[in-house]
Amino acid sequence: MVKYQTVKNIFLIDVTNRDGVQTSRILLSKLAKTMMNVYLDEMGLFQSEIGFPTLKHEVNYINANLELAKKGVIGKMHLEGWCRAVKEDVELTFRNCPDIRHLNISISTSDIMIQGKFQGRKTWDDVLKSAVDSLKLAKYMGAETVGLNAEDASRTDVGKLIEFSLAAKENGADRFRYCDTLGADDPITIYQRIKKIAEATKFPVEMHCHNDLGMAEAVSVSGAQGAVESGVDAYINTTVNGFGERAGNCDLVSTILALKYSHGFAERVHLDERVDLKKSWKVARYASYAFGIPIPICQAGVGANAFAHESGIHADGALKDRRNYELYDPEDVGRVEPELLDTGRIITTGEYGGLKGFRHVYDKLGIHFTDDKEARKTLDLVQYANLHNQKPLTDDELKFIAENPEIVCKILTVTP
Ligand SMILES: [Zn+2]
Repeated sequence: MVKYQTVKNIFLIDVTNRDGVQTSRILLSKLAKTMMNVYLDEMGLFQSEIGFPTLKHEVNYINANLELAKKGVIGKMHLEGWCRAVKEDVELTFRNCPDIRHLNISISTSDIMIQGKFQGRKTWDDVLKSAVDSLKLAKYMGAETVGLNAEDASRTDVGKLIEFSLAAKENGADRFRYCDTLGADDPITIYQRIKKIAEATKFPVEMHCHNDLGMAEAVSVSGAQGAVESGVDAYINTTVNGFGERAGNCDLVSTILALKYSHGFAERVHLDERVDLKKSWKVARYASYAFGIPIPICQAGVGANAFAHESGIHADGALKDRRNYELYDPEDVGRVEPELLDTGRIITTGEYGGLKGFRHVYDKLGIHFTDDKEARKTLDLVQYANLHNQKPLTDDELKFIAENPEIVCKILTVTP
């Protein structure tokens, strides 16, 4: 019998801006990554894995986002960088981004990867040493929190994962990330494995699960349950719309829905209370637009058909009482108002726009430029931002540019 009074919290760490964007054939501009961070913060997420501080083209974007956090534009959410658990990467991270305070560092732990990737250059003891050395260095260089990631954890012996997680705990890490890198776990295996690890270590666990068997959300919430039942906090890694390597990652909105409405979780699990499901529609729609990938029609909560009824029995039932065929309401996921589409005359601003059109667009957004120089400067930024995004700027993007001109300059700057 499970004692639910010991149940801990589940927090969400979104990895769209790292795992999502590193994926084949899908990409985000630096401005779009920034908007994602802003939306995820509004949604009450614990942390966003914002990118790769060791990668040159990410550096200005990351530093600019750290400034946004300092300014309070990104309020509470941790902005975290990802790098390999090797000392060179940690050093480079702090050289490139001295103000970064949250990191996840990653190394392969399975025999198959240690043999297949390191090809005899590293043993298990070398892996542990590299992880611990990098962790200590990250803390020494100013990291306030560090998650230690076991890549391919789902194909790693549980005993070794306990050793790895204890090494993380004893050397100042804040969490152990269990990566189901190949999406090989099922809800039962992951629950059992996480339970064993959490009971042996009493150390918080992050679930990082992929969707190769179509179970990313199921295994994530199951693993998290194993952790909280063992008396440690759990963290679930998500991506918006499930975008991620191969078949994708654990989808953010589906995960929140599962934790709030499923029979197994709703009463028993404490999801971080700051999480606001009502922001789902906004963040999912923006990600779809920015990535240029439609949301599947049957996507949980945010798909076009998530609240559609046509067949005789269903439509009749839903009309009599929506609870006959709906587990939750459109309003719960932020699908509140009908969206207006301009089909007549429209003035837009962008890459080749001039001052008149620019002023017209901003006036409609309620932003008025009294100073011509300021208007000119902002128009320049709008032109660059449009060039950078290669798609019409959204109202939120236009507002963001006007409110944070210096930071936007940095976000748009890449020095090859
Ligand atoms: Zn991944």
